[in-house]
Amino acid sequence: MTSFLIDDRVAVDAGAITRALTIEEQRALRHVLITHTHLDHTNTLPFLIENSFGSSDEPVSIFCTKRVLAGVRRHLFNNDTWPDFTRIPNHMYPSVKFEEIEIGRPFSIDGLPGGVLEIVAIEVNHIVPTTGLLIRQGDSSIIFTSDTGPTERIWDVANATEDLAAVITEVSFPNRLQDVADVSLHMTPQTLAVELAKLRRRVPVYLYHFKPPYLEELRSEIAGTDLPHPVEELEQDRVYEF
Ligand SMILES: [Zn+2]
Ligand SMILES: [Zn+2]
Repeated sequence: MTSFLIDDRVAVDAGAITRALTIEEQRALRHVLITHTHLDHTNTLPFLIENSFGSSDEPVSIFCTKRVLAGVRRHLFNNDTWPDFTRIPNHMYPSVKFEEIEIGRPFSIDGLPGGVLEIVAIEVNHIVPTTGLLIRQGDSSIIFTSDTGPTERIWDVANATEDLAAVITEVSFPNRLQDVADVSLHMTPQTLAVELAKLRRRVPVYLYHFKPPYLEELRSEIAGTDLPHPVEELEQDRVYEF
């Protein structure tokens, strides 16, 4: 279940927001970036919006591409599985507003304690339309690939980003399930080795998205893989500074 919190105000993906944050913390969140429609990245969005209801005069803004937005509307805020909060309490004062982003076009989010975020969505190679993110604050950038199989563009962006401070990327299945990883467009440790060879900057690489049944197997496989960069597993609930 994937969620990252930036400066207490911005969430990247909504896989775990309502389980990881208190109600107060959820009500302080003002922006959510959604990389793709899969439930492990979106499932807490409906409850976040409900818990945030009435917390501010301003609606919570959800940033995603047009294709992701279509899926979020169709499956999460469809008045069937959950109410359409873009029309609650009414369309003049909605609880949620969707901000459509375009791949490759920078946008910004301000009003954060650490300063404005400049963000660019980058298409990656997952089984549904998915964007990784280049996120810059001040003179430091990070890249989050989101879920992806082998891909190119985001590594080119990483190599061209002079202030790149870290990369967060995925590994999902052990090598023996390479065929499953290939059809679902995820990575194994051996895929990761090939992908990380495309990264030419010496920056810390953090891993997320270990599928729970293979956690221990993945840890030992990664430790035994000759990777072009040292990697570290992201820890739940830990604060990282870049
Ligand atoms: Zn996914
Ligand atoms: Zn996922």
